[in-house]
Amino acid sequence: MGKVSKEKILEILDGYDKDNITIATLGSHTSLHILNGAKAEGFRTAIVCEKGREIPYERFDVADEFIMVDKFADIVNDDVQDKLRAMNAIVVPHGSFVAYAGLDNVEDIFEVPMFGNRDILRWEAERDLERKLLINGDVRIPYKYDDPADIDRAVMVKFPGARGGRGYFVASSPEEFNAKIEAMKSRGWIEDEDIEQAHIEEYVCGCNYCIHYFYSALNDEVELMGMDSRYESSIDGFVRMPAKDQLEVDLSPSYVVTGNHPVVIRESLLTQVFDIGDKLVKSAAELVKPGLNGAFCMQTLVNDNLEVVVFETSARTDGGTNTFMEGSSYSYLKYGEGMSMGRRTAREIKNAIEQDALDKVIT
Ligand code: ADP
Repeated sequence: MGKVSKEKILEILDGYDKDNITIATLGSHTSLHILNGAKAEGFRTAIVCEKGREIPYERFDVADEFIMVDKFADIVNDDVQDKLRAMNAIVVPHGSFVAYAGLDNVEDIFEVPMFGNRDILRWEAERDLERKLLINGDVRIPYKYDDPADIDRAVMVKFPGARGGRGYFVASSPEEFNAKIEAMKSRGWIEDEDIEQAHIEEYVCGCNYCIHYFYSALNDEVELMGMDSRYESSIDGFVRMPAKDQLEVDLSPSYVVTGNHPVVIRESLLTQVFDIGDKLVKSAAELVKPGLNGAFCMQTLVNDNLEVVVFETSARTDGGTNTFMEGSSYSYLKYGEGMSMGRRTAREIKNAIEQDALDKVIT
């Protein structure tokens, strides 16, 4: 099956009534501020909502239209796509949209105009591509071990598909690595093929800052929009136990995100923050043309050498943007009050419509 071409999307956009654009997304993840922000910029809004999950969207009244589906993945069904196109919809992608719609479907069959660069979504989803993007941009990332026998300091071991950090573990030597692998195998948590694909990286002992940027293709500018830190279960519960009890209980911590705190970073680190954002934009423009477009996120750990080390990126609205629906300390500096990531996205679409430049921000 061929990829959804830019020409096809531009043809669909040509048929749209530009005075009646609807901003749409899947009802999950960051849809509240995507739709609230779209309304603040004067758009109509629509939500594709799984039956039984509509309550937050009704109670917060963020959507003018509800397209109800049996399951999230139905967003790619023909009838849903028809409804979206009939309301001149531009879809704003987020983490759950990509997870439920499926990357192949987004690339091959989802013929609805989307904000951003749809080709880049695969680059953030696949660890090797993501690393390539960061290495090409000369961004500081955790040191990677190709062979467990080389482990000479604390490492974090990650498995493919270990969504939300479930099943990740820390080890400090080849022996500890092997013992933990055996324990996981005997519990049936991993298979031999997972072990082959285990990703072993330097454990960065530092504080977590997830940095939310917006790259405006219209202005060719990287904006710092906000920052959050993750609240992860069970690790954040685990560390509340006295150390003695931590040693005694037989618990292996997991890193499942359950929420986010807003956070600000030491002011002297902002130079690095802008630097890594600019570098990722440059790298993406080289490797995945036309590059990043709109929201992106660098998940970092800052160590005691005050190095900002990037362990993960998102090339679309990240969940932590929910910490600044009414604006953040950083978006306040540029925009004054009230600039969420959703609103910034809607403003870019509005500016593109006014400048007759939708082709620059839609894919
Ligand atoms: P997922 O993509 O499955 O959510 P992440 O790669 O984001 O997994 O990692 C989950 C959590 O594990 C992070 O939020 C962080 O707390 C921790 N973590 C990830 N990589 C490292 C690392 N190299 N050093 C220390 N902690 C890490």
